[in-house]
Amino acid sequence: MMQLFMPLNFLGFVYREIRGALANIERMFSLLDKHPSIVDKPDALDFEPKRGELSFEQVSFSYDDRPILRNVCFKVAAGKKVAVVGDSGAGKSTLIKLLFRFYDVEQGRILIDGQDIRQLTQDALRRAIAIVPQDTVLFNDSLVENIRYGRPDATDEEVRHAIKLAHLEDFIASLSQGWDTKVGERGLKLSGGEKQRVAIARAILKGSPVLVFDEATSSLDSRSEQAILSALREVAKGHTSLVVAHRLSTIVDADQIVVLSKGEIVEQGNHSSLLAQGGLYAKLWRIQNEQQHLSV
Ligand code: ATP
Repeated sequence: MMQLFMPLNFLGFVYREIRGALANIERMFSLLDKHPSIVDKPDALDFEPKRGELSFEQVSFSYDDRPILRNVCFKVAAGKKVAVVGDSGAGKSTLIKLLFRFYDVEQGRILIDGQDIRQLTQDALRRAIAIVPQDTVLFNDSLVENIRYGRPDATDEEVRHAIKLAHLEDFIASLSQGWDTKVGERGLKLSGGEKQRVAIARAILKGSPVLVFDEATSSLDSRSEQAILSALREVAKGHTSLVVAHRLSTIVDADQIVVLSKGEIVEQGNHSSLLAQGGLYAKLWRIQNEQQHLSV
């Protein structure tokens, strides 16, 4: 019996380790297509950013000699919401990848609470940022365990609170096995909107000072979109948020909107000042409104 127990026990250990590692990868970025080549400096700081102020200073970056971002400069003050918008391929997601240090900037620097992120350990940096990715990875596990990945030692009470804020209560109540329902590859398939709300619940549990929301390109039905928006408003309270937006209707309340075109900032301001400016943002707004009217 003991002979059987030892390998099984070891397998259990391996499973838990892999599950933990997968959760970390998910936290970093769900769509990572290669392993990070970034290594911590020997004297990297295990600094814990508290306020969550972000600064992109003259950031330039290329993928394999192809320039993507040029001289990008903007700040996200602690507790504020900044949105990045622009055409497809403008470099919005690349900004997030640089913030997470999947790649290092070529020129310029990115600061969090005044610290160059290259001076921090990657663990410290990733603890400071919670991400709601475009496409959330769900593991073959119960719904509650999928949510708990945000902070594995969270109490049931904390998980319930996150579920409420993420507007998942009604959805969970509609499942015969409630939060014990298996989801993921071999379980219940969740819709895009439900998956994003699971990611929001994870982010709430993680409780990092900075929240990054990478809005899904595929459109959701308007009820699901409203649920996500109000969940995001909850999680953004008291946090610094950086939102990559595809639908401008989701970011009209942002403190600052950064408009990117071909890797450069062409406009910055809030929704009304950008509309008044009559530039690229105003044009994108007009196009999206026309499309919406056509689809109604
Ligand atoms: P979208 O709105 O369509 O999501 P985006 O503004 O987020 O676009 P990015 O994903 O940042 O754009 O991509 C910017 C450019 O960099 C694109 O031309 C893209 O093809 C290219 N790119 C993205 N990732 C890589 C990569 N890993 N290697 C090489 N080129 C890449």
